Amino acid sequence: MAGKLVIGNWKMNGRRVASETLVAAMLADPRINRPNVGMAPPAPYLALLAGWLEGSHVAVCAQDASRFAKDGAFTGDVSAAMLADIGCQYVLVGHSERRQYHGESNEVLRAKLANVLEAGLVPVLCVGETLTEREEGRHRDVIRHQLSVLEGVDPRRCVVAYEPVWAIGTGKVASLEQIAQMHADIKSWCLQIQKTDVTIRTLYGGSVKADNAEAILSIDDVDGALVGGASLEVESFAMICMAA
Ligand code: 13P
Repeated sequence: MAGKLVIGNWKMNGRRVASETLVAAMLADPRINRPNVGMAPPAPYLALLAGWLEGSHVAVCAQDASRFAKDGAFTGDVSAAMLADIGCQYVLVGHSERRQYHGESNEVLRAKLANVLEAGLVPVLCVGETLTEREEGRHRDVIRHQLSVLEGVDPRRCVVAYEPVWAIGTGKVASLEQIAQMHADIKSWCLQIQKTDVTIRTLYGGSVKADNAEAILSIDDVDGALVGGASLEVESFAMICMAA
């Protein structure tokens, strides 16, 4: 199973000295310091992280990129081209927290995806339904709609992360059956949406921890994990990377 992709999403956590210490401890661990592992720190630390990771196997990942492509009067924005410039490889696009707190719509996400691809980076499109949407039986329609932004995008150049909103930071994990079913559905919907016979890579996210990582990452259609809380602690993140 070795080689599935694991990205640690630090969200809005960490300070310079503590993060540098954490990264040093992680890089000293061969379970973490291997290809197909990435770390996504808050924007002010991206360039620092790129320096700390130099010479390691671990990739730099951003949590977001601007919907604007060109430099200009866009106060507060960070462009995909800037992220490429400092050595970033992956960019999360449409994380549920961005959708929830910043109202990111499919239209905005389409622009972000295009910019990330244009900059030569790999977008990780995050999709996921809320608890209400699942309880009302609308989860498949919701995910299908969120995936529609991938129309015209080459599946070899992007990744989808399925993160049920009700499983993020709650300790509630989707059942293995729910995860397997949704990942299979996502792969088959993407074949239609992207009009291709190349299967897209899919990650699972939502309370992935040391003790459930192996079961989740053993599912054939799960190509990796997007990890929040457990990516901030060395042993937890190492166990998850090892399971991948
Ligand atoms: P947790 O692993 O903390 O549930 O977060 C998941 C997530 O949102 C990763 O992007």
